[in-house]
Amino acid sequence: MNRISRRQLVKSSGGILGMSLLGLPFGGRHHESPRLKVVVTGGHPDDPETGCGGLIKLLTLAGHNVKIAYLTRGEAGINGTSHIDAASIRTEEALSACQILGGEANFLGQIDGDTFVNKDEYENMFQFLKKEAPDLILTHWPIDTHRDHRACSALTYAAWTRLEKKAELYFYEVLSGNQTQNFVPTDYVDISDVRAIKHEACFAHKSQKIEENYANDHGKMEEFRGMEGNVRYAEAFVRHVHNSEMFER
Ligand SMILES: [Zn+2]
Repeated sequence: MNRISRRQLVKSSGGILGMSLLGLPFGGRHHESPRLKVVVTGGHPDDPETGCGGLIKLLTLAGHNVKIAYLTRGEAGINGTSHIDAASIRTEEALSACQILGGEANFLGQIDGDTFVNKDEYENMFQFLKKEAPDLILTHWPIDTHRDHRACSALTYAAWTRLEKKAELYFYEVLSGNQTQNFVPTDYVDISDVRAIKHEACFAHKSQKIEENYANDHGKMEEFRGMEGNVRYAEAFVRHVHNSEMFER
């Protein structure tokens, strides 16, 4: 297990992310174990990896348990390929990416491009998160041009509130400016030391040809967030403050 240096946390708004990356003892609600239980939800295979693959790798290197939950299997994501075949290809790619990051893949059973935010899906996400009982949840920022990302965020947020906000909630960005909109970070994580392995995980999604454009989209985000944090490469997050903190202000 690698020890995570203080440098890898560029800026923290004071939440669990800072504590976990600094490698401090953390009991959370799993008092028998110092490990954090982390769940990352994403609309499609490749969203968690591109949005916060660096953070996921830092967390797993620090010994924390990370589950990556994909709302869909990316059924509509390969032109000229049937939903069934695309789901099969992209499931394998997601499994490879998760293995590289040290996380565990979960698939939540919705269909790419045809996601629902309704009573049944609220219940499904709630039951999933209730079962996992995470200390930390990461999901899409809710203002996003892709409806599946908005759906994932809305379902996760609703489940988090129904679970009485026991976990810490952070939002990650994907292709800011193109997909994620109006995202003003509260937390920055220095991913310089794990950037290469994050890219390996992203590029495991061969059907998405991420490698071809990475330098011009996701790569630029890592550079820009790094510039904001005065490090080479960073990922940025918005932390949902707790109600008690709001009242304290
Ligand atoms: Zn997506």
